[in-house]
Amino acid sequence: MNNRFIIIGAGLAGLSAALTCAKNGDSVILVSDGYSERSQSVMAEGGINGAIDTQNDSPEAHFQDTLFSSCGLVKEEAIHALTQAAPIIIKELARMGVNFNTEQNGKLSLRPFGGQKNRRTAFAGTSSGKQILTAINDEVRKYEIKGLIIRKPHHLFRDILIDKGVCTGAIIFDKYSQKEELLYANGVITASGGLNGLFKDFTGSVANTGYCTALLFARGVKLSNLEMIQYHPTTAENNGKRMLVSEAARGEGGRLFVYKGNEKYYFMEEKYPELKNLMPRDVTAREIYNISKEMNCEVFLDMTELDEAVFEKKLKSLREDCIKYLSVDPKDSPIPVFPGIHYFMGGIAVDTAHRTSLKGLYAAGECCSQYHGANRLGGNSLLGAVYGGKVAASTACEDNLPLIQDGERLKEDLPFEAAEDIKDVLQTAMGVIRNEESLSAALEKIKENDIFSLLAKAVLQSALERRESRGAHFRSDYPERNDDKFKKVSVASFDETVNIRFEGV
Ligand SMILES: Cc1cc2nc3c(=O)[nH]c(=O)nc-3n(C[C@H](O)[C@H](O)[C@H](O)COP(=O)(O)OP(=O)(O)OC[C@H]3O[C@@H](n4cnc5c(N)ncnc54)[C@H](O)[C@@H]3O)c2cc1C
Repeated sequence: MNNRFIIIGAGLAGLSAALTCAKNGDSVILVSDGYSERSQSVMAEGGINGAIDTQNDSPEAHFQDTLFSSCGLVKEEAIHALTQAAPIIIKELARMGVNFNTEQNGKLSLRPFGGQKNRRTAFAGTSSGKQILTAINDEVRKYEIKGLIIRKPHHLFRDILIDKGVCTGAIIFDKYSQKEELLYANGVITASGGLNGLFKDFTGSVANTGYCTALLFARGVKLSNLEMIQYHPTTAENNGKRMLVSEAARGEGGRLFVYKGNEKYYFMEEKYPELKNLMPRDVTAREIYNISKEMNCEVFLDMTELDEAVFEKKLKSLREDCIKYLSVDPKDSPIPVFPGIHYFMGGIAVDTAHRTSLKGLYAAGECCSQYHGANRLGGNSLLGAVYGGKVAASTACEDNLPLIQDGERLKEDLPFEAAEDIKDVLQTAMGVIRNEESLSAALEKIKENDIFSLLAKAVLQSALERRESRGAHFRSDYPERNDDKFKKVSVASFDETVNIRFEGV
């Protein structure tokens, strides 16, 4: 009999994993809170990276940029495989029908993105995620019709089943019928997205509550690099939430400035003459944060000098969103921007084959910590989600574990979401700039021991114990990078207490 897998999450990573299992002849139960079309993946605007233009770029150069940006916290063989696969994945997506922008000669248009020395971000206007997800979702339907993939939308993951140290299945909860269902499988792949729900303000989807990661941590699964949270440099206030103004805006020529008197001061261009407004996100976010505090002023993103044709062909939906949600036409007026929580580089620890520390459990996409280290390059996460989904699924198929119809679950009453006071504490302590005093004070405030409190403690402790500054993690009390002590991955584990260790990459 063929294998059966449970996949939690139906964004890009979950769909890519489902497709890989089904192509292998194995069956899949695809569990997700909402429909794929409502996953965070559809929000991705700017594009997906791959060294397509072989005359001016190479997978090796992509590898080097990714490694540099990660500040040494990635497994080189993992990002080598990712960057080698990238051009093939983009061509595959184009064949599936993704409507990538092209040049007059028919070749794919590529835009420059932060922290990258070459143009290598393929894009479909500013709806890249939606286009890619729609194409993969269509492929998944072919296998759904054959009965190999069964979707279970409006179902929440509740718990995993563990028998003698092996993950044997999952318990899911139907939001409509309010009933639980117990499923056994030859493996469980989690693709449940980032830890948005631990915070108050972020650019991503509220469906990504962080529940899966919190539950798995409480069940003993190891997490890594939790302190590495990416602040996107350019987000805008929108009714108390953060709206992303995509890096595509700066990729197409948008410039950051502050007013000095009546003059515009383009601070990034003066300080970083090579990459200017396209420095890696950690650097740009800190520069915006610091200059706004030092000068007590707003920072603006200026797109007023861009041609109409650039807006029409490359930034159409971005412009529409600015008009609709911010009441500003970026062609007419600069937009006030500030860094906002955008991406979680850390998450479930996986090996290069996407196995977690629990046998039979695999992880892919933003919920896992694999390709980005201390800082993610824009355009690398869509790639990491599609590629990671494939690798996790191939590994699960190869492992070919037996179906065990047994396993224990947690006995406690589990909260569906983090409490508001936890979100407050984390939002304040895990800012663009951190220090010992505020992190220790935050830890003191977390008194409970429910699954979200344990995860919150692990995030704070990881940030506290990394006594250096690296990538997205900046400590005002330890402003220098310390390779001797900390060119290591932080690994969080739970066994009666939360423990943090620093391990070689
Ligand atoms: C505004 C925005 C723009 C972005 N632009 C880009 C870009 O241009 N390029 C790029 O590379 N990256 C971009 N990103 C990042 C990128 O979109 C994500 O990292 C990527 O899509 C993650 O895919 P995923 O499949 O891992 O997770 P998601 O797409 O977030 O899917 C997670 C899935 O898990 C399900 N789920 C979560 N919790 C549960 C639960 N408890 N039970 C059941 N199901 C659950 C959700 O319903 C969903 O189906 C952007 C992100 C944002 C927010």
